[in-house]
Amino acid sequence: FYHISTGDIFRDELKNNTELGKKAKTYIDNGNLVPDELVIEMLKHQVAENLSGPGFIFDGFPRTHMQAEALYQMLGSFNTKIDAMITLLADDDEVIRRLSKRAEQEGRSDDKSIDIIKNRLEVYRNETAIAKEYYRDKGKLFEINGIGDIEEIHQRLVEIIDSL
Ligand code: AMP
Repeated sequence: FYHISTGDIFRDELKNNTELGKKAKTYIDNGNLVPDELVIEMLKHQVAENLSGPGFIFDGFPRTHMQAEALYQMLGSFNTKIDAMITLLADDDEVIRRLSKRAEQEGRSDDKSIDIIKNRLEVYRNETAIAKEYYRDKGKLFEINGIGDIEEIHQRLVEIIDSL
């Protein structure tokens, strides 16, 4: 599958100081979501350029109800569809621990302080949890336990993907 991480793409755009990077910077630095229109436009290009492969893994997308709707429309226009939304569940303490560790290792601006991390958790609850319900209603939501070592969690993901 072709892996599209919207966060990775934004980080590249930021590094290269592109117009899109400049527009996204303040949102990312504060732990807020980049506006839907910017994300959807960027994703459209990525999908259109990679349609010949076996499929896609969208990572960190969709994060709002509007993005989920836009993805549905976009994939429909390419005669394809989403098979599954997989979410990894972890409690706030665990997420805060992991992001604080990543801050030391990678120095990401959106992991920089506990306030920014807490804001990201809040944004997740307010905006992204709704996108999850969009897929639950369609019987496409798979929630897995995100606690454990990397190999264990990988195995849980593989089992779901193999069952599709
Ligand atoms: P991530 O690496 O997926 O945690 O994304 C890092 C940051 O990029 C997020 O906190 C947002 O500011 C922005 N971002 C990434 N993906 C999206 C998305 N689907 N919608 C809006 N903002 C996004």
